[in-house]
Amino acid sequence: MGKAIAIDGPSASGKSSVSKGVAAELGFMYVDSGALYRGVTWQAIRKGVDATDAAAVLDAMHAADWDFFVQDGAAIFSVDGDVPVQELREKDVRESVAHVAAIPEVRKFVVESLQSLENFGSLVMEGRDIGTVVFPDSPYKFYLDADPEERAMRRYRELVAAGEDEKAHEVMDSLKKRDKIDSTRKTDPLVVAPGAQVIDSTLMTLEEVIQTVVDSVRG
Ligand code: C5P
Repeated sequence: MGKAIAIDGPSASGKSSVSKGVAAELGFMYVDSGALYRGVTWQAIRKGVDATDAAAVLDAMHAADWDFFVQDGAAIFSVDGDVPVQELREKDVRESVAHVAAIPEVRKFVVESLQSLENFGSLVMEGRDIGTVVFPDSPYKFYLDADPEERAMRRYRELVAAGEDEKAHEVMDSLKKRDKIDSTRKTDPLVVAPGAQVIDSTLMTLEEVIQTVVDSVRG
């Protein structure tokens, strides 16, 4: 069995950039677990389902055909033959995903799918519950954090760079809402996993954070 490196933390804490950097440096596969929660949300929306209707979301999720594969060093999935990427970042998905991810049966499906990816080899997986639920026995667990203002500014800059017409205070509000739903939901709330190394990246560069994780994994 390969190594599973768990990188958890709140929205815009730098998980994606750090996880991709660590995966590249170690030659491991990169897995974005949030993409699968977004994928379930996207599938529900395109089937005309209201994301707050848990039973209908589950019907849409179970009726779909999900497939997982590795491309360019990253795990990706197809749903009913389509590979959504840009679609997963759209506003309707972004605004509904925390509700969909709070549905216990959705979490069960996603967690089991993520665990099965270990069959592809060593991986770096980013998320909210990777160290607590998906790979609780992994000796390589990290929790990335940064001040909320810094996280909101990072997300705002990302959205502006992607051509989205957003206001900084709206990004801050939406981030706070998402943090609240993620940390207070009944099933698998966002918490620091037992044994996880906490890294506060507010005053660190991306390279410094990547190096901290890589050094810790290499021992
Ligand atoms: O990381 P990302 O912003 O793409 O995640 C989207 C949403 O998916 C999060 O706000 C959270 O509700 C959910 N999520 C989760 N557990 C994970 C990854 C994401 O609940 N491991």
